[in-house]
Amino acid sequence: MLPKTLLTPVAAVLLSATSPLSKSLPSLKGNFKANERVITHKLGDKTISFKVIQYGETIHTCCINLHDNEATAVQAARDVLEMEGGLIVKIENGSKRMVSFPYKGVMYTFDPNRIFSMAGIKLTLKATGKVNPGVFAEVEKFANHLLELIPDTVSCVVALHNNTDGDYSVKSYQPGGKRTNDAKQVYANDWQDSDDIAFTTDDYIFTKMSSLGYNSILQDNVKVFKDGSLSVYYGEQNKRYINIETQFGKTNQYKEMLRKLFFALDEEKNPAAPVDVD
Ligand SMILES: [Zn+2]
Repeated sequence: MLPKTLLTPVAAVLLSATSPLSKSLPSLKGNFKANERVITHKLGDKTISFKVIQYGETIHTCCINLHDNEATAVQAARDVLEMEGGLIVKIENGSKRMVSFPYKGVMYTFDPNRIFSMAGIKLTLKATGKVNPGVFAEVEKFANHLLELIPDTVSCVVALHNNTDGDYSVKSYQPGGKRTNDAKQVYANDWQDSDDIAFTTDDYIFTKMSSLGYNSILQDNVKVFKDGSLSVYYGEQNKRYINIETQFGKTNQYKEMLRKLFFALDEEKNPAAPVDVD
């Protein structure tokens, strides 16, 4: 049986067979079956697909996978959402990080986590080679189509990412790091691998994840470098976003962080009843 700390208050009630509530409450957790849809998109002269995987009918959170090589995060999310319900939106890109496509006979390449502003689109295309005004519009349409697949009603967008040892970590945001200016607050825990991080636009999530002992970064939604990444896009709108990122292969650590996030979001929705003190 799962430890009770991993369950929502409602699920904990459901597990206690003696509770009179257990008969009248609908089951909120369980083995949800994945309902998968594939949506095609014409990107220049290439057809690329998005996959939308839905678990259950009630969707509060949407997980998004932009880098198709980051399979650890996706597998962990599939396992957790089977129990929790939710949505995964992903780019199908032959297990590659960068997206390449032909346009009028020339190949162009971009990082799909740098396309959520025109400035970002120009930067990433420039960094990877050629630029062309017609291509800017093509990439912008691709980004907009992807964003349309994320329901407006979700209370939190969770970005699924993995990294390699030592490349990008909580240290990137600490004094002397490359991205210090992007962070409003940083919490680093010596017991955690510095590559395993929670990076968020949201104060509540930062407070929760850091108090649970995870390396946590609160994005400075104003000062952050506007690189066209999804965190910048949601930060500018003051929308709740979190990137959970572990090293490749660390599926259990990923699942634990994701479950703790869901628990924190549940807890916020259903705060424990205050205890009467006489
Ligand atoms: Zn990534």
